[in-house]
Amino acid sequence: MDDMSQHKRPWIEKTPVSAPGRDDSDLMRNISVLYVEDDADIRRHLAEFLRRRVGKLYIAANGQEGLELWRQHRPEVVVTDIMMPVMSGLKMAELIQRENPSVPIIVTTALNETESFLKAIDLGIDKYVIKPINTELLLHAIQKSAWGVKAGLEIQLAATVFDASSDAIIITDSDNRIISVNAAFCEITGYSAQDVIGQTPEILNSGRHDTGFYHALWRDLLETGQWNGEVWNRRKNGEIFAELLTINAVKNYRGEISHYVSIFADITEHKQTEEHMRHLAHYDALTNLPNRTLFNDRLGQALINAQRDNGKAAVMFLDLDRFKNINDTLGHGIGDLLLQEVAVRLTGCVRQGDTVSRLGGDEFVILLPELNDEKDARLVAQKLLNAAVFPMVLEGHELHISASIGISYYPMDGTNAEALMKNADVAMYRAKEEGRNNFQFYHASMNARSFERLAMETSMRYALNRGEFELYYQPRFSLPEGRIIGAEALIRWNHPDLGLVSPGLFIPLAEETGLILPIGEWVLKQVAAQGTSWQQAGFPRLSLAVNVSARQFRRVDFAGEVLQILRNSGFDPHHLELELTESTLMTHAEENIETLKKLNALGIRIAIDDFGTGYSSLSYLKRLPVDILKIDRSFVSEVPDNRDGVAIVEAIIAMAHSLGLHIIAEGVETTEQLEFLQMRKCNEIQGYYFSHPLPVEQFEQLLLEMQAVDDKLQAPR
Ligand code: C2E
Ligand code: CA
Ligand code: CA
Repeated sequence: MDDMSQHKRPWIEKTPVSAPGRDDSDLMRNISVLYVEDDADIRRHLAEFLRRRVGKLYIAANGQEGLELWRQHRPEVVVTDIMMPVMSGLKMAELIQRENPSVPIIVTTALNETESFLKAIDLGIDKYVIKPINTELLLHAIQKSAWGVKAGLEIQLAATVFDASSDAIIITDSDNRIISVNAAFCEITGYSAQDVIGQTPEILNSGRHDTGFYHALWRDLLETGQWNGEVWNRRKNGEIFAELLTINAVKNYRGEISHYVSIFADITEHKQTEEHMRHLAHYDALTNLPNRTLFNDRLGQALINAQRDNGKAAVMFLDLDRFKNINDTLGHGIGDLLLQEVAVRLTGCVRQGDTVSRLGGDEFVILLPELNDEKDARLVAQKLLNAAVFPMVLEGHELHISASIGISYYPMDGTNAEALMKNADVAMYRAKEEGRNNFQFYHASMNARSFERLAMETSMRYALNRGEFELYYQPRFSLPEGRIIGAEALIRWNHPDLGLVSPGLFIPLAEETGLILPIGEWVLKQVAAQGTSWQQAGFPRLSLAVNVSARQFRRVDFAGEVLQILRNSGFDPHHLELELTESTLMTHAEENIETLKKLNALGIRIAIDDFGTGYSSLSYLKRLPVDILKIDRSFVSEVPDNRDGVAIVEAIIAMAHSLGLHIIAEGVETTEQLEFLQMRKCNEIQGYYFSHPLPVEQFEQLLLEMQAVDDKLQAPR
């Protein structure tokens, strides 16, 4: 109210003062003025003066003309006489103000025209220049009005920016009490203007920053007048959000802070994306474990610390055994679930500061950065192995896996990350060779072994041509008939330097390198030729079993190649058996069925080797044209003493009989095992109990001896 009355008090220009330091010539040059005067002399005189000082000048001789000009050109300032014919200056002023109340109007009038004064005051006109006109005073009045126009525009502009800004704006007073907030503020924080006016911005405090943070913010703000940074705040609904905040301290003309203006944008989403990206770059998507990048980072850091503190650290390479089998036979879905489960288990075995990371596939690596004693690593490794072997049930499948671990130490086995990783890897391979499900510490001799591997690969390439391979035959003994009815051909490599190399060592390597293809072909030809020559020599008809690797079996026309070999040698297909492992059969099952059917049609019998170690489903087995099941040695060795072993072997035999399959137990070493199997009506046995695999001559020797016994038994009849 007070303001209003002040506003209405007439303001009479007395002394021409131009505001110091402000350049008004620009302002004046941009302003347009309507000048209305009926006295032609005064009009001409003043018009001449003004024309040189303002941007645009419109001249009218009475209120009516003036109104028309104003409507046409909308000049920013109006200067008018009061008493005029046709329409008075006050009438015109009233009509203009009706259309735009903010147009500044300057009235020129004689001091004695009291009534006009009062009317003008009623209209809210507050600028007067007394006649006779002092031109400088008039100019000054116009200048002041022009400032008002400009300031008004600026305020309008500021208000528009304030309201329309997508950034939140808070204006606080010198006590940091909120006096104004904009729409974006309300939208971002959920608070209405009423909620916050009179409060301090602390109402948004998230509790995420300590007092030190705010302390530093205020210190900067007071020292420099500004603060920039990211702040976590809390919305009205309790949600925490991130903002990018700028605070400016506004000073009054005395140089004291009168207001603070805070402007912020909600960058929560941006922060989340950033966070997400950082996570993606450092964590494995499947298991959420640190990935190789983050692992390398942590290993590097651990080595720096260990070096500084003369500490120890361990790197463990962990690889799941037979994971590929599960992935191939049960599908990637289950494989993924298994990896996730393993990740959880492994993480549960280590301490807070340790890192379990997945490098890819079924390879994990564990970092123990602060190791007091090597014994600790041993304990952790054993824990990891135990965690891995614990059976898991995934989508109704009970899975049994195990892991192989290689361990390297800082500083004994390497002082940089690369060497430690490499040596842990080498040690892990040793663990695999040692039969899996165990851990091995790195030893310098192991590198020599991997060199051996390489050397072996090279020499294996020449072994075929040099005739270094040889087939041994292990007799198969029929339990009901009580005699040898066949043999399994088992390959041996007479290495010129290494001596007799076991297939367990070189067959996996041959499979990796593809050399298994020519080797496999050689075995088949050899067996076919041998079988034919035994037939011709008058030995009883023998069933000869040949091991076929997955890679061989999956050749485009495997059945055709086998047929070709049999034809060339003249060996009867009905006496050939092909042994395929469970995992070979379960992988790419549909294509396998085709090949198996072709082989079957030729009269060749199919045996499932190492039965029980894979993940065959019974329903699937029924669909396969197989004839024989070979119970894996690991189960046979458990009978008759181990209850679980007994149950498994009994179940396998019962199942095989119900499916009409011929059943062979391999690895039979003791009389007890033999008796157990005989009682359960196992069809055949194979194993050291009866005979080791033998070179051809010894095998023939054995056949002859058996024949002699038979003959003797038959002679008295
Ligand atoms: P496999 O097919 O399971 O062969 C049986 C293995 O058990 C043979 O090992 C045999 O010597 C051994 N064995 C037989 N009876 C007993 C016993 O009573 N006790 C014990 N402890 N072991 C017994 P070998 O000859 O070292 O062959 C190892 C594996 O190499 C074979 O396992 C087979 O998978 C592969 N293999 C052998 N020859 C060939 C071949 O010509 N081609 C292919 N692709 N693989 C072959
Ligand atoms: Ca076999
Ligand atoms: Ca076997």
